[in-house]
Amino acid sequence: MIVAERKPFDEIKELIHGYKKVLVVGCGTCVAVCLTGGEKEVSVLSAELKLSNKTESAPATFGEATVQRQCDFEFLDEIKDIVGEYDALLSMACGAGIQFLAERYPEIPVFPAVNTTFIGVNKDVGWYEERCKACGTCVLGMTGGICPVTMCAKSLFNGPCGGTNHESCEINSDQPCAWHMIYTRLAKQGRLDNIIKICPANDWRNQKPQTLVQPGYEERKASAE
Ligand code: SF4
Ligand code: SF4
Repeated sequence: MIVAERKPFDEIKELIHGYKKVLVVGCGTCVAVCLTGGEKEVSVLSAELKLSNKTESAPATFGEATVQRQCDFEFLDEIKDIVGEYDALLSMACGAGIQFLAERYPEIPVFPAVNTTFIGVNKDVGWYEERCKACGTCVLGMTGGICPVTMCAKSLFNGPCGGTNHESCEINSDQPCAWHMIYTRLAKQGRLDNIIKICPANDWRNQKPQTLVQPGYEERKASAE
């Protein structure tokens, strides 16, 4: 899932300063799971904003709405009858959701209430760890299911580097060396021959926005353009 964290309250207040009717828009998927931007977090932020606005001479008003997914026009349409009542939208979705909200309602300023941090896993309630940087060329099949792009300080496709030191990375003794972990995992699976295979350099296609059209959906995409 995509993991995000709420921006500092003062930064959020500064972003929406001067707007008189603000709709706080949550997302019911990734950011809800990581306890950052779901229905409950929308309520908490709205309550904090209302409280801090009480002392203003002309306090702003705040509305609340949470859609299932902000990265999907189908769900963004659910708020089409109310967005016109507001002069700003404050999104609690990930960066993709925030941009799609702004694209769907381009006449209204959209502001981010969260910082999108990484693609990660849910280790426990409130505890998330990064696992993927969406590099566009997944090598997990070669590396025993451990991502060298995320876990190695140099994102090496072929490792370890000369800095590996008794299971640790040279950047910090508390940081495990990704390629030591990969070696250990492959050894456990009897697949150590993988470690000497050369992984070709990544072409880093993710340096420009990517589009994925699943097989069979090309015509549908063409007719929508
Ligand atoms: S190799 Fe690339 S796609 Fe695969 S997990 Fe790592 S960053 Fe993600
Ligand atoms: S020591 Fe290991 S984790 Fe650190 S940069 Fe080198 S290969 Fe990557």
